[in-house]
Amino acid sequence: MKQKYESYNMTQRLLDQIKVINGVVESYAKQGYKLTLRQLYYQLVSRGIIPNKDTEYKKLSDLLVKARMSGLVDWDAIEDRTRVPKLDYSVDDIPDAIDDTISQYKLERLQDQKVYIEVWCEKDALSNILRRMTNKFHVRLMINKGYSSASAMYRAAQRFRRHGTGKKKILLYLGDHDPSGLDMIRDIGDRLNTFGVRLDTPDGYPIHLGITREQVEEYEPPENPAKITDPRAEWYIEEHGESSWEVDALEPSVLNELIENEIFEWIDEDRFRNKVKQENVDKLKLENLKDLIDDLDVNIEVSCVNCSEQVQADDDDTIYDMDDDKWFCGNECHDEYNAE
Ligand SMILES: [Zn+2]
Repeated sequence: MKQKYESYNMTQRLLDQIKVINGVVESYAKQGYKLTLRQLYYQLVSRGIIPNKDTEYKKLSDLLVKARMSGLVDWDAIEDRTRVPKLDYSVDDIPDAIDDTISQYKLERLQDQKVYIEVWCEKDALSNILRRMTNKFHVRLMINKGYSSASAMYRAAQRFRRHGTGKKKILLYLGDHDPSGLDMIRDIGDRLNTFGVRLDTPDGYPIHLGITREQVEEYEPPENPAKITDPRAEWYIEEHGESSWEVDALEPSVLNELIENEIFEWIDEDRFRNKVKQENVDKLKLENLKDLIDDLDVNIEVSCVNCSEQVQADDDDTIYDMDDDKWFCGNECHDEYNAE
């Protein structure tokens, strides 16, 4: 929601920019996505609102703070995935817990398929977006944050062996179109090989889902404002020039369509749909269970750890010792026990 905490004087040019920002934010919200600052930046560049320069990125960041502080842009429009506090799970009561179970209930949707698939992406900023599809198919989403580590590659190889036995092993990769982004595809394939896993793709390497040169031609996303000057990237510059493209520049709907279409290429769709149907049958059963629990009136008895007397757990006198996870009858035996 929009809420004002400060006042700023803004030029008409900035107010116009904010209007465009709100348009982008709303169109994303309609599709159920939140933007990161990076994605918003690319949206404004591709609409010709701001030039594609690093300094503009910083300016946009500042503008967005002011626009939200002055109540012109929705506070929920932008997400900062890196600064989120942790709170452990809790519920109101048992029916509430069953509701949670129903909402999370999921069978292993690709378990009976002849293929084991993982989706890998080098950018953490995209994980919330990509999860829409990896969640749909119940496949693992691996965020590498650049080149992967030895521990992560070792574990990945173990995973492919454990879940991929007797199945085709497929890895779908999303990353930037720049020297290291493209090299990561080779790196992942080579390192899986070192750990004894060969992917069942045509060339044994991860499938490069995006962002590809063909997608750059098709969608014309803005290039990364930073030019490539690294002399080690000579091979890249020869082929693509000094321009590079971040995978964030592709629309979320495009990214998810790429994943969905590719996964459907590899799986038996009828089997998949049946599995999802089964899930929903099970959810209806859980819904019934909730009513049963409500009507259930059973005596839950516990045994006193000291005198072994059977007592009602929910009796006012009965004591639960949370430090030791023990029950006491609440009679005098408890005092004796403590005195010892
Ligand atoms: Zn007792």
